[in-house]
Amino acid sequence: MRAGIGEDLHRVDPSRPLTLGGVTIADAPGLAGHSDADVLLHAIADAVLGAAALGDLGTHFPSGDARWAGADSSAFLAEALRLAREAGWTLANVDATVRAERPRLAPHLPAIRASVARIAGADPARVNVKAKSGEGLDAIGRGEAIGATAVALLEAAPPD
Ligand code: MG
Repeated sequence: MRAGIGEDLHRVDPSRPLTLGGVTIADAPGLAGHSDADVLLHAIADAVLGAAALGDLGTHFPSGDARWAGADSSAFLAEALRLAREAGWTLANVDATVRAERPRLAPHLPAIRASVARIAGADPARVNVKAKSGEGLDAIGRGEAIGATAVALLEAAPPD
């Protein structure tokens, strides 16, 4: 077994749509970023890469690379899992927390969880996504940023 942690934070940019875990949430301020700024998928992909000791998202998908401008971040998670699989690992489970002052994420969590599982090609029972507000404190609490933390556990993949 291998455990990895992923952290990400993006500045709020009301001119962009908000995409979390591959789900676009209507009527919510979006996030600045080179790709689609899916802070949750970035944290999860980093957790997967970390667990497989494969570096980090920035190494595999440099933000200065024009190929990833506006990219759908589901490609990042899928690629992180493909690399992990190549190294002999498969996803046992992932647990993640999104920290956002707004929108209120609770009503969206079932769809986000299902979407992450779909992108990861995993049973939804292996995926958990939680939400917390920023309690009015720091950049997240002031609604200036949204953050995410993820932990991924990988297990040795059965031989093909
Ligand atoms: Mg990011």
